[in-house]
Amino acid sequence: MILFEGKSKIVRRGVCDDSLVLFYTDIVTAFNGGKRAEPLGKGRLCAAVSNLLFAYLEQNGIKTHTIKIIDEASVLVKKADIIKIEVIVRNVAAGGFSKKYGVTEGKVFDAPIVEFCLKSDELNDPMINESQIIALNLASKEELLELERQSLYINTLLCKRFEQAGIRLVDFKLEFGKVGGEIILCDEISPDSCRLWDIETGAKMDKDIFRQDLGDMLLAYEEVLRRLEHWTN
Ligand code: 5GP
Repeated sequence: MILFEGKSKIVRRGVCDDSLVLFYTDIVTAFNGGKRAEPLGKGRLCAAVSNLLFAYLEQNGIKTHTIKIIDEASVLVKKADIIKIEVIVRNVAAGGFSKKYGVTEGKVFDAPIVEFCLKSDELNDPMINESQIIALNLASKEELLELERQSLYINTLLCKRFEQAGIRLVDFKLEFGKVGGEIILCDEISPDSCRLWDIETGAKMDKDIFRQDLGDMLLAYEEVLRRLEHWTN
């Protein structure tokens, strides 16, 4: 039974009450659903990249929602109370940041930037600050500090992993949830939710290929997966 259909994933009931099945569809959207396509195999590629990265983060002490990989596009996950905040970490200026603040794409920051956005399709995920988050009861001050701490640690781990694969992690989006008061990493980390540039050529290897009509996104997603698998341990 379908419980929820997101922009690129379908959520079904799991085997028991405290689990869910996430199914990665081939649907890709940009500009808050304004642009849409369904390239065959995209879901499988995002699931494979995300499963690999979540396993790597787990090995390094990050708690995630993953219980078990069911098949190439489905994962059994813990049912969590999703925190309605998207955490964006940026190492290099690009996308929304460059546009909003007039900063040349490619400027490397001395230290990573952490941003919070309200998770709301209707409102187009607006940026939200700490006191607004606390006033709206979206998270407590302690939880926000924990989200920031975990996001920065995840960034350090991911930068290292992508660098081994010849890929620069420009920016990415994270989502978290709570299970029994504990904060865990949820959703996905894939070329759909990160900006990834080839370190040698600067070529884009992420959803910007779709956003900006730069060519075949599947070839780039396959290459990201191939390189990450090649550099597994
Ligand atoms: P920006 O704010 O520059 O549009 O996005 C920053 C980073 O977060 C990019 O890697 C982008 O793909 C990711 N991101 C931001 N919002 C979303 C979202 O709603 N869904 C997904 N999949 N990624 C997002």
